[in-house]
Amino acid sequence: MCPLSQVEQRLEDAAQLWRKASEQYFDPNEFRVTIQACIQAFRTVTWILQNNKDAILEFNSWYGAWQQKMRIDEILRWLVEARNRIEKQGDLFTKSTLKVTLSGSWFDRPHYEALLPPSTSVNKICSLIRSQLPMELANASEGLLCAERRWCDSELPHVEILEALCHCYSVLQELVGDAHRRLKVNQDTPCELSARVTQSNLELPKFMLNADTTRTTWLKLRDGTRASMAVVTQTVTKKDVPKVAQRYGAEIMDNNPFAGERSFRDRCIAFFNHAKLLLRKDGYHVSCALVETGKNFMFFELRMDDRAEKHMVIRQLAKTVGRIKGKSVILIGEAWVAPTASVMPGSYAADCPTKAEGLILNGLTKDGDYISVHSIFRRTVEGIEFDEDIIDTGNLSPILAPFLELWRIRKKTT
Ligand SMILES: [Zn+2]
Repeated sequence: MCPLSQVEQRLEDAAQLWRKASEQYFDPNEFRVTIQACIQAFRTVTWILQNNKDAILEFNSWYGAWQQKMRIDEILRWLVEARNRIEKQGDLFTKSTLKVTLSGSWFDRPHYEALLPPSTSVNKICSLIRSQLPMELANASEGLLCAERRWCDSELPHVEILEALCHCYSVLQELVGDAHRRLKVNQDTPCELSARVTQSNLELPKFMLNADTTRTTWLKLRDGTRASMAVVTQTVTKKDVPKVAQRYGAEIMDNNPFAGERSFRDRCIAFFNHAKLLLRKDGYHVSCALVETGKNFMFFELRMDDRAEKHMVIRQLAKTVGRIKGKSVILIGEAWVAPTASVMPGSYAADCPTKAEGLILNGLTKDGDYISVHSIFRRTVEGIEFDEDIIDTGNLSPILAPFLELWRIRKKTT
């Protein structure tokens, strides 16, 4: 049994309370009770860890450094203070609102943002807003309305409470994972938490990855219908490697994007070459995102049917990337490509008569490194034939705009 099993159990309890609170989001009373229990559970993780100090090498100096790190974290400071308020004063002073954001393109600032009582009907809001919009926006194919219900505490008014607790989970998981590296007695087989932290690519429990989906509604402005979307996480383990080699050939193994100290650009090119192998073999390539995190990378499949849903999926992905503290994002998928000169301003390659099928990769790091790679291809009787790769590191694709915002990068886009 892992000497830190009690600490792990408490962290897991807190995560389960988070999940329950998320399910009770629309029931103010239930939500209040559960979220307060959740805050209390998170707060006690470090106490139980301190009770197990004898299991950890040079506990005091190690934990001292962690304490310093946690003290400068605004959200963790709020956690400590919120738990004190719950235990000593009474309920948190929470407020639920409806935040409505309107978007017409990748770059438009929200046209309309209002805090409305949570009882407001999203459909009513949508028809009210539509009736007041300029025609071109109300009918834009990518026009979206996002209505997000939010519970916030008065002492942390700018962060939604479940998002704040996701952050607490992520830091505490890192702390407990780090404690495992300093155990006095080595574990023969790692415990579940240790295995998850050190051997899998999962940064948060799956139910926390898309923390805001249950409380957020997206409507297409054009017809007021609900936009559906899915960002599906694929967990990759070492066991999957032989299966991949079997299907796509040994070539895919020779070109490991993570081999050696490759630059971001070289990793992207290696991923692009993998994508070509997949497209050749399968005849299609799903739209997907690779997100590099501190320890590994996560893979997301992006499912969307039209331009509005594409906007929504990418914005949703940017939120998830923020939650897992991603360091870079690489988007890969098939797309229509048209010569720049033949696309009229405000129109799309897909509508251009000279369009061709292409495979496209767009990559961006937190530090602003950017690369785009694309290749036009044709389907022939012998299979798929690719033109030469075109690499661009100068013009940023607008699809990356939500990530520029996430990482506060100022960059010129096309
Ligand atoms: Zn353990």
